Amino acid sequence: MKIDLAVLGRQFELYQEEYEEAALRVLRSGWYVLGPEVEAFEQAFAAYVGRKYCIGVGSGLDALTLSVRALGIGGRDEVLVPANTYIATVLAITANGATPVFVEPDAYFTLDAARIEAAITERTKAIMVVHLYGQAAQMDTICRIAKAHGLHLIEDCAQSHGAKFDGTMTGAFGDAGCFSFYPTKNLGAFGDAGAVVTDDAELAKTLRMLRNYGSEKKYHNKILGVNSRLDELQAALLRTKLGHLAELIAERERIAAAYLDGIQNPAIRLPKLRRNANHVWHQFVIQTEDRDGFQTYLADHGIQTVIHYPIPPHLSECYQYLGHKAGDYPVAEHMAKTVLSLPMFNGMREDEVQYVIETVNGYVK
Ligand SMILES: *Cc1c(COP(=O)(O)O)cnc(C)c1O
Repeated sequence: MKIDLAVLGRQFELYQEEYEEAALRVLRSGWYVLGPEVEAFEQAFAAYVGRKYCIGVGSGLDALTLSVRALGIGGRDEVLVPANTYIATVLAITANGATPVFVEPDAYFTLDAARIEAAITERTKAIMVVHLYGQAAQMDTICRIAKAHGLHLIEDCAQSHGAKFDGTMTGAFGDAGCFSFYPTKNLGAFGDAGAVVTDDAELAKTLRMLRNYGSEKKYHNKILGVNSRLDELQAALLRTKLGHLAELIAERERIAAAYLDGIQNPAIRLPKLRRNANHVWHQFVIQTEDRDGFQTYLADHGIQTVIHYPIPPHLSECYQYLGHKAGDYPVAEHMAKTVLSLPMFNGMREDEVQYVIETVNGYVK
């Protein structure tokens, strides 16, 4: 059997008629960028997360970058960020001229709340938290620390649509909740898209200007903006999918439950579930010491896996100028050597799930 990490065509087929109808509606409307579909999606998504405002933008990276900018962070400012995140989180900081200060992750692959305070300096302006793989970080402690030190809190929710901590949606804790709707994400568009959610009217207004050349009124450019607009087609498709997100998450939960129950191999460490949080399983990430050998074994049996992520940002070539070296963040570096994401996607068949389980169980180091 051959199984890819994610087969995106399957999630399209689940609600194909609805997507086709939404797409045709936009194509025939004669209006394609920022319009009624974007507004309708923004309202629906703000309500879903439980926030007052949603600002649709061009990508998850833009959601993060523009949030950092709208909060006035740059120059000599430092921003705390987990050492094991996707590079985009860090790029949003450095794109604004600010300095990322890496903090080791905890056993749940998210920012280790117990290590945050030691990293705070007089230049620290914000904490960037990432709900990696679909599970919330330790938000009670993190919110308390941000408040106590007067720091902004930005949430990278690119992988956590629908994930909650203590009953509150990720994206509803910080000054800004930043989402990506890249096609592979749990709420994926059919192209690039992103959004910021917030309760702060002033921040929302600034973000609306930033995404559209810094103007509120056409040709009256108040601030230095960019072009990062959400288009009507993606907005219409996203609103359609948002209506099914609960079912899509439930399906991922069923696959994860089968993995958690069925995978029994002493060489494989299963992901840990945080108390008071629900996991939406953007990725099902296991750890094993002979990761590369295990990945080759699975590939030989037709199972595609991906490493999220093989090189931590502080060791990435583009960040050489920060002066970090191997050994600076041993927890994150060990994760980069041991993590592996198993196939997990909407529309994955029962027999495929069982084949993955049997193959994983058949692995001997
Ligand atoms: C995907 C992702 C992003 C970037 O989103 P894009 O829409 O691809 O720009 C940022 N952070 C994390 C954690 C992601 O997984």
